[in-house]
Amino acid sequence: MPDIEMLEVGARDGLQNESVLFTTSQKLELIGRALDAGVRRLEATSFVNPKLVPQMADADAVAAGLPRREGVIYIGLVLNKRGALRAIEAGMDEVGAVCAATDGFSSRNQGMSSDASLAMCCEVVRLARTQGRRAQITISTAFGCPFDGEVDPSRVVEMARSAAAAGPVEVAIADTIGVASPAEVAALVQRVAVAIKPLPVRVHFHNTRNTGLANVWAAVQAGARIVDASLGGIGGCPFAPRATGNVPTEDVAYMLQRSGYRTGLDLERLIASARWLAGAMGRDVPGMLSRAGAFPKTSPDAVAI
Ligand code: ZN
Repeated sequence: MPDIEMLEVGARDGLQNESVLFTTSQKLELIGRALDAGVRRLEATSFVNPKLVPQMADADAVAAGLPRREGVIYIGLVLNKRGALRAIEAGMDEVGAVCAATDGFSSRNQGMSSDASLAMCCEVVRLARTQGRRAQITISTAFGCPFDGEVDPSRVVEMARSAAAAGPVEVAIADTIGVASPAEVAALVQRVAVAIKPLPVRVHFHNTRNTGLANVWAAVQAGARIVDASLGGIGGCPFAPRATGNVPTEDVAYMLQRSGYRTGLDLERLIASARWLAGAMGRDVPGMLSRAGAFPKTSPDAVAI
């Protein structure tokens, strides 16, 4: 096991918030490239209403085309029980259930209250487990809500405690709109880690206000062991139209590896994938390592890939 497990979310959170629509085969290529770079756990798609999220309308086709490799775990994200049933039917290894810390966000995103979204997540975890699948819970808007504003950390801690009792493999706290600061992250990760012990804490950051990498660092120092990231940092933020996306996988991997953490990822392959992604999207990606290159170079032709 690597010191820090990096969970690739580019094919779901990344593409979901991009205006460029990828074909199913492009998505599968992205996933294949992530696997080639050492990723072993990734969000492959989400099972949501295709009318609301057209980027994920091919969820079943993506699921059917996933390369089966030893030790790889594919996650299907869901916002309700119906989605969970679809994810299980489609053969996903793991169901990722999402709730929100605020009523403002959960009512608009999921058509239910925050409490109801948490109850749904717990039900989804139990359902997945009875079907022999892994399951996890993500608490979105854990650091701030575009509708309700500031979020009380104690609310998130109590939600995490309840979520952990349902039997997921982990509980994640997500800065859905990219407003968190490192001090807030450190404090909340520490409290959630205690509340859900012995389950691990996963973190999910958007680089909307350029605090993404600092937040990852703060989270890791505070005890988080699983970090979401997207190749190239694609994704944007639906509530901040000109914002960048998730923290970039290759930039996070560089920061962690140069700091002595093992991630199990191959930087040069990540860089090559980010450049491929930029080509496929027809624009630069936000991640910076694919522009600057790794240091030190691991092969003489590394920059020419
Ligand atoms: Zn996200």
